[in-house]
Amino acid sequence: MSGPRAFDFEEVEDRDGVRLSWNVWAGSRIEATRTVVPIGALYTPLKDRPDLPPVLYEPVTCKAPCRAILNPYCQIDVRGKLWICPFCLQRNAFPPHYKDISNNNLPAELLPQYTTIEYTLSRPAQIPPIFLLVVDTCLEEDDLKSLKEALVVAINDMPPHALVGLITYGTMAQVHELGYTECPKSFVFRGTKEYTTKSIMEMLGLAPPTRQGGPGGPPPNAPPPALSGAARFLLPVSQVEYSLTTILETLQKDAWPVPSDKRAQRCTGVAMSVAVGLLETTFPNTGARIMLFTGGPATEGPGMVVGVELREPIRSHHDIERDNVKYFKRATKFYEALARRAAQNGHAIDIFIGCLDQVGLLEMKTLSNFTNGFMVLADSFSMQLFKASLRRVFAKDDQGHLQMGFNATFDVQTTKELKVSGLIGHAISANKKSAWVGETEIGIGQTSAWKICSLTPRTANAVYFEVVTPAGQPLAPGARGTIQFVTHYQHSSGQYRLRVTTIARNFAEPGNPAISDNFDQEAAAVLMARIATYKAEIDDSPDVLRWLDRMLIRLCQKFAEYRKDDPSSFRLNENFVIYPQFMFHLRRSQFLQVFNNSPDETAYYRHILNSEDVNNSLIMIQPTLMSYALEAQPEAVLLDSISIQPDRILLLDTFFHILIFHGDTIAQWRKAGYQDQEGYENLRDLLKLPHEDAQDLLADRFPLPRYVQTDQGGSQARFLLSKLNPSTTHASGGQYGQPPVGAAIFTDDVSLQVFMEHLKKLAVTGSS
Ligand SMILES: [Zn+2]
Repeated sequence: MSGPRAFDFEEVEDRDGVRLSWNVWAGSRIEATRTVVPIGALYTPLKDRPDLPPVLYEPVTCKAPCRAILNPYCQIDVRGKLWICPFCLQRNAFPPHYKDISNNNLPAELLPQYTTIEYTLSRPAQIPPIFLLVVDTCLEEDDLKSLKEALVVAINDMPPHALVGLITYGTMAQVHELGYTECPKSFVFRGTKEYTTKSIMEMLGLAPPTRQGGPGGPPPNAPPPALSGAARFLLPVSQVEYSLTTILETLQKDAWPVPSDKRAQRCTGVAMSVAVGLLETTFPNTGARIMLFTGGPATEGPGMVVGVELREPIRSHHDIERDNVKYFKRATKFYEALARRAAQNGHAIDIFIGCLDQVGLLEMKTLSNFTNGFMVLADSFSMQLFKASLRRVFAKDDQGHLQMGFNATFDVQTTKELKVSGLIGHAISANKKSAWVGETEIGIGQTSAWKICSLTPRTANAVYFEVVTPAGQPLAPGARGTIQFVTHYQHSSGQYRLRVTTIARNFAEPGNPAISDNFDQEAAAVLMARIATYKAEIDDSPDVLRWLDRMLIRLCQKFAEYRKDDPSSFRLNENFVIYPQFMFHLRRSQFLQVFNNSPDETAYYRHILNSEDVNNSLIMIQPTLMSYALEAQPEAVLLDSISIQPDRILLLDTFFHILIFHGDTIAQWRKAGYQDQEGYENLRDLLKLPHEDAQDLLADRFPLPRYVQTDQGGSQARFLLSKLNPSTTHASGGQYGQPPVGAAIFTDDVSLQVFMEHLKKLAVTGSS
C-alpha cells in the first residue's frame, strides 16, 4: 500500500517547472542503483509564470569557484548579516544594500515561495534578435506562392527592431544585399562547390573578425563601416520590410530546367554553410535563428543526400541498416560540423519542410538537435500545418515580446551527495568540468553546463543525477540534497535574464517506504523514454528494447509485492501501476520502432519527443482516446481495440495526429444525411462535439498536429489501429469461442495483457 506523498507533482511542476522521477532519494550510491530508474528531472526553464514578474536587481552569488545563487534553502544569520551556501558550505556576507534584512524583511529570493525566481540583469544585449531566412526556390509554382505569402506574414510578425536577412537557393545560392537600395543586388555561390568560411567571407566582402578594430585599422580597400558585413545583409525589419517584401513577392522559381526523370538541382548544403558562415562572422555569440524552408532533398554539392536521377531512390531505414548508402555518412558529417559551429555561436537553426517525400532531415537533424531549433514537417507549404506553425513561432506574450529566449547557458549545481550524469535534450556541452560532474554518463555528460541556442516556454530538458555517498554511512536526521538550475539567456526585449530554480529533496534509508511513495511514474516514463531514444540513435533497436525490458523487470522486482514463483500474487502499488503500460506503448512507438516510418519521420518524431514536457511527452508515448455516443457523456476509453464500436465516434490524440474516427453505424447514418433532418439534432450535435474538442487540443500545440477524419474500414484508419493495444487480433478470437468484441487488428504484436503476464512471470522468478 502506498503511504502519504510529500509532494503534489503537478503543483511542484506549476511552481518550479520540474518533474522528478524520485522525490525522496536513496541515501547511498548502491541503494540508488537498486532503485533502477535514475534520479532525473524534466525541467522547463522558461515555464510560463504569470505570477512571477522578474525582479529588477542582480542575484547575490556565493564566492568563486562555487558561484551558487542565494535561495530559500540557504541558512541565514540576520544578525551577523551572513548566509551559508548549501552547496559549498562557505559563509558569505550579505552585500551592503541587504543591511536592513531581518526575519520579517527578507528579499524575495529567500522567501519559500521563490524557489524559482527570474532576475533582469543590468547589462542589456547589444544586438536585437536576428532572423536569417534561407529559402528554397526549387518548388512548384503554387507551393512557392504559398511559401512567399507565409514569409511575408512572418516578417510582419517579427519585432521591428529585429535584424533580418535573406538567402535564396536552388541550383545556386544567393545572399541578398538588403542594404543596397538602388536595385536588388545579391551575391551568388555555386551549388556544387564546397566553400571555406574564409572564402565565403571574402566573396561577401566581410572582414575577418580578428581584424575588426585591430591596431592596424581596416584594410585599405575595405568598405566603410556602415556598409560592412552586418549593415549590408542583416538589417532592422522596420528599415527593410518594404524591400524585403518586394524581393520575396517577385521571387521566381529556380530557372534551371528539370527533366521529368530528374530531381531539381538543389544546393541546400551550400546555402546552409553560407548562412552559418555569415552569422558566425558578423554576429558571433549572440541570439539568432537561421530559418531553413526546404521543399526537397539536396542533390548537389556538399550535403547532398541523393543524386538527381529519379530512378535512384533516397535511402530507407533498410538501406542504412545494411550500410547500403552512398551519401549518408558524408552528408551527416557535413551538417553536423555546421550544427556544431552554429551551436557554439548561440545560433539556432530551424528546419521547415514542405514536401511529401523525404528531404534528408535525417542527415540534417543535428542542425536543429544541437541548437534547439524548430522542426516542422508538412507535405507542402500550402498546408495549414505549416502556415499556422510558422505563425506560432512568432507568438507574443502580454507585453508584446516574442515567447522565445536566445543564446542560453544552462548550469546545474548539486550538493556533495549528488553528481550530474548528463542532459538529454537539444543542447551541446559547454564543457564545464566542475566538482559536481559525475562519472556515470547519461546523454551529454562530462559537464555541468550546456549551451541552448533557443528556448520557448515549452522547452523541457532531461537532467540525470547519481548519488555518490558510499554505503554504510548513517544518514543525518533530515538529510537532504539540493539542486540548482541556472539559465542565463537573452530575452527578446533586449535584456539578459537569469532564471534560477532551487529544489531540495530528502534522503531516506534503504527500505523506507517514502522512496516508493514519492515515485512519479509519469516523469519516470518520460525520462526513460529519452534515454531509450538516445540509445536508439546509437544502438540497434532490439538492444534498446531488451534494455528497456530488463530495467522494467528489475523495477518490478524491487517495488512490486509478490510471493516468489507465484505470478498471481504480483501487485504494484498505485505509484507504479501504470508504469509498465507506458513501457509497453513506448516499445511499440515510432520512437523505437522505425520500420513503419521513413528515416526523416523518425528524426522528426524523436526531435519533438526530446523538446516537450511530461504531459505532452506522455501523449506521444501513450496517446489519449475519447469516445462519444448518443445519450452518453464523452468518456476517456482504453487505448485498446475493444474501444472500437460501430455506434461510437473516437477522438485519438497522438500529439502528432488528431484523428476522428466514425464507427460503422455512425458513418452510415452520416452518409445517409440523418444529421440534416429534423428530429435528428442529437446526431448532428454528436458529430460536432469531437471536432470542438479537437480544436481545444490544437489550441497551443507546436507544431500543429495533422488532422485526420476517417471511418471504420477507411484507409486512414491505420493511424488509429497502429496505436491500439491489439487485445483482439485476428489470431486471438473472443472468450469461450464467442466472436471477438471490438475490431480485430491484424498484427503479431503481443497485447498488453500478454506483455503483463510475461512481466509478472519474469519478475516473480527473479530473472532479468
Ligand atoms: Zn557556495
